[in-house]
Amino acid sequence: METKYIFVTGGVVSSLGKGIISSSLACLLKARGYRVTIQKFDPYINIDPGTLNPYEHGECYVTADGTETDLDLGHYERFTNVHTSRANNITTGRIYQNVIDKERRGDYLGKTVQIVPHITDEIKRNVKLIGNTGDYDFIITEIGGTVGDIESLPFLEAVRQLRWELGDNALCIHLTYVPFLGAAKELKTKPTQHSVKKLQEEGIQPDILILRTEKDIPTDMRRKIAQFCNVSPDAVIQSKDAPSIYQVPIKMHEQHLDEIVLRKTGVPIEGSPHMAPWMHFLEKMKKAEKSVKIGLVGKYVELQDAYKSINEALFQAATYCDRKLDLRYIHSEKLNAQNVEEKLSGLDGVIVAPGFGQRGIEGKFVALRWCREHDVPTFGICLGMQCMVIEFARNVLGMADANSTEMDPQTPYPVIDLMEEQKSISNLGGTMRLGAYDCKLRPGSRAAEAYGSEMVSERHRHRFEFNEDYRRQFESAGMKCVGENPKTRLVEVVEIPDKRWYIGTQYHPEYSSTVLSPNPIFLSFMRAAIAYQEDR
Ligand code: GLN
Repeated sequence: METKYIFVTGGVVSSLGKGIISSSLACLLKARGYRVTIQKFDPYINIDPGTLNPYEHGECYVTADGTETDLDLGHYERFTNVHTSRANNITTGRIYQNVIDKERRGDYLGKTVQIVPHITDEIKRNVKLIGNTGDYDFIITEIGGTVGDIESLPFLEAVRQLRWELGDNALCIHLTYVPFLGAAKELKTKPTQHSVKKLQEEGIQPDILILRTEKDIPTDMRRKIAQFCNVSPDAVIQSKDAPSIYQVPIKMHEQHLDEIVLRKTGVPIEGSPHMAPWMHFLEKMKKAEKSVKIGLVGKYVELQDAYKSINEALFQAATYCDRKLDLRYIHSEKLNAQNVEEKLSGLDGVIVAPGFGQRGIEGKFVALRWCREHDVPTFGICLGMQCMVIEFARNVLGMADANSTEMDPQTPYPVIDLMEEQKSISNLGGTMRLGAYDCKLRPGSRAAEAYGSEMVSERHRHRFEFNEDYRRQFESAGMKCVGENPKTRLVEVVEIPDKRWYIGTQYHPEYSSTVLSPNPIFLSFMRAAIAYQEDR
């Protein structure tokens, strides 16, 4: 079958859930046996979101090939179980960088380089690059931003041209918002009409409209929208707020989104998507009655999206353990020796978050000391693992002022230190240890038991490492280096076997946890938290 291209745009407001809709459609098409991938174009000038602070766009998601990407790529992987890569997230910055590099090389042979056609051609090239691999039947391309933004214009122009060139092999799904005005007690369709007009002004006629709404949109109202927007009435679909994002694929299937896409792209509709494993997950989610209380200690707790993949990995693990996740955010900057007992007691498990820089770090040490001394199941991820090492050095090994050289370059005990090859790097963009690396786990360790395997591959995003010079001291005092990179011998996992469950991973296991394949170490942590709850 010829590759089909589906473009997803959004209008009226941002945060409509284009990523979730794209992921849901991909999930359904995959469950019908098609090979699917999702690509996101982000209209900002940053080359990638790696240099963005989480307050800007939430978490930075890391792909197996080591690309720092938008958090929507995390949804794509969680919903489809398919790895994404560098080709799946392109920013305006990267498009311009490529064009300017070509200009400097002289590739344009003296021509004036312009937004149209050079920038738009580069955008089109990046869409087709994935298509031309022949690896996919469907490429879903999400255009970040909102129709009407200055930044989005070149992307929309590229979509317009591609639709023209690809004919029936392309279609456009446009997401809008239908607000409910409380005072008038009415749903309003005007913003949708305006948004579609705006899209039409750019030369794009949407084939399918998805209306985000808090209330059910009556059939006659959908018909009216269809009529005003030149869309067939069955292709006007509502996306009503759902209790869980994981229900959205089912909601979309109930309104035949997958069938409409197949029909409009000329693909014969055979049978229905095989959603049994997904439904099994939703069933568990619905049936769970008891909850498990996990504390997440971090400095971005006021921001839902900053720890997106950790939240989702915890939720998946809790669901598979038949529990509701009761996640408590604990602000590391507000934790101290006086209030730690009050803030952490009653939790079934504690997770110490990744991060950069000094802010909130002392609170992480306080939390970790309390958890270690009270034998609470504790999971440290990346900076969280580094903090486990530092806290242990200070309070068990007697190395006062032990630290990471990230926080204190003069520390007398640099138990976490910069890798040699990082020392000469001055650029901050894309220069960390990024992407998937193998990790060999010590036989008999809790980590090896969790994975049921002695060789795993997980994704990294950090500059600093456990300092090899101190390995023997940690080992003999009871903190074991149970995971290491088989090539470089860098320490990737530490654990205290005498404790219930006290494990730190230098890597980020949350990035590889998906609905249909939850990450084993999160499952193991969750089981330990539940066991601890039941013991008390
Ligand atoms: N700041 C630490 C480092 O760069 C940890 C990074 C992280 O938690 N992702 O090594």
